[in-house]
Amino acid sequence: MGALFPNYGRWEIEIVEGQGTKVKDSNGKEYLDFVTGIAVCNLGHRPPKVQKAIEEQLNKVWHVSNLFQASHQEKVAALLTENSCGDYVFFCNSGAEANEAAIKMARKHTRRNKIITFVQSFHGRTFATMCATGQEKIHSGFGTLLEEFVYLPYNDEKAIEAEMGEDVAAIMLEVIQGEGGVNAANEAFLKKCEELCQKFGALFIIDEVQTGIGRTGKAFAYQHAGLSPDIITTAKGLGSGFPVGAMIGKAHLKDTFSPGTHGSTFGGTPLAMAAAKATLDEIFQPAFLQSVSEKGEYLKKQLKEQLADIPFVKDVKGKGLLLGIQCDQEVGPIIAEIHKQGLLVLVAGPKVIRLLPPLTVSYEEIDEAVQILKNTLTKYSSLPI
Ligand SMILES: *Cc1c(COP(=O)(O)O)cnc(C)c1O
Repeated sequence: MGALFPNYGRWEIEIVEGQGTKVKDSNGKEYLDFVTGIAVCNLGHRPPKVQKAIEEQLNKVWHVSNLFQASHQEKVAALLTENSCGDYVFFCNSGAEANEAAIKMARKHTRRNKIITFVQSFHGRTFATMCATGQEKIHSGFGTLLEEFVYLPYNDEKAIEAEMGEDVAAIMLEVIQGEGGVNAANEAFLKKCEELCQKFGALFIIDEVQTGIGRTGKAFAYQHAGLSPDIITTAKGLGSGFPVGAMIGKAHLKDTFSPGTHGSTFGGTPLAMAAAKATLDEIFQPAFLQSVSEKGEYLKKQLKEQLADIPFVKDVKGKGLLLGIQCDQEVGPIIAEIHKQGLLVLVAGPKVIRLLPPLTVSYEEIDEAVQILKNTLTKYSSLPI
């Protein structure tokens, strides 16, 4: 175990098995998994239909180059475009790559350089997406950043109005900032961004890498606000754990990525597409999405009620099954204790406990998780810190 770069802060736990909401560690201890690989295992661990689709594809062909015809990609692209305002899809392997494609598309399409993003955003770790990310700690140490990324305060209509002009290629944002603290954008601000993009001929890019694929109770979270972005990026939940990302764009962008202008060796392989198709077939059912909304509201209400008396808990925020417990102190040490009690959760910034259960989580599992949180936080609030 000594030969890995130490670029992750890892918890002590090693997960060796998973099924549905439950995972088991190397000591045989069971947990409820409200991390789900960070909003990846939206159908729980090893969902049977996705597993079957991957197994069937394993017996046909694993990888073919994008130099060949791609009906396997067409099927997934149809599902993504039928369930969004987009018309065309480019497949890649991760969220950062989807955003990288969006940034390249915006610059090439508009022939402009400036991209507006927001403070506390997170768009990925490649060079361009790191530069798009509005967090200094993520830029730190990597030398000169790419030019013409501008970070504005989130939810500030005046700031965006002042910055916007005919030199702007795109506004890029998350409708709920996931890594940055589970901060939701308000509808007026989102509408203002869209309107200014239309007025000045810039592209409106929504990063749905964490919020998409049913996580908030809609196929994509921008749909709650009735927006119509030019580009939507997605990844995390798209393959139920099989690595796959996608950039979805409107018809007017079609000719910008002409043959030879952008690509990816692994983008949209038959295995990835088998996983994505089986995932979307399930998640994009209206009744499924409705159940996510209902469970999300139930979990939020339970958390608000059960944690009301804990002095350092200030708010419960987020939408659907992307929720954050806002505390007024650092939550790192509390997270480890919650894990010990059998519930896996993560942070979103220093003071927010983030909950990302599988969208298939049961009401019983939600109740169990809320009890663990209540007991652990109550115990913690009585300790001198
Ligand atoms: C996770 C995430 C990314 C980066 O995705 P990777 O697959 O890790 O490259 C980009 N944007 C958002 C909003 C994310 O949550």
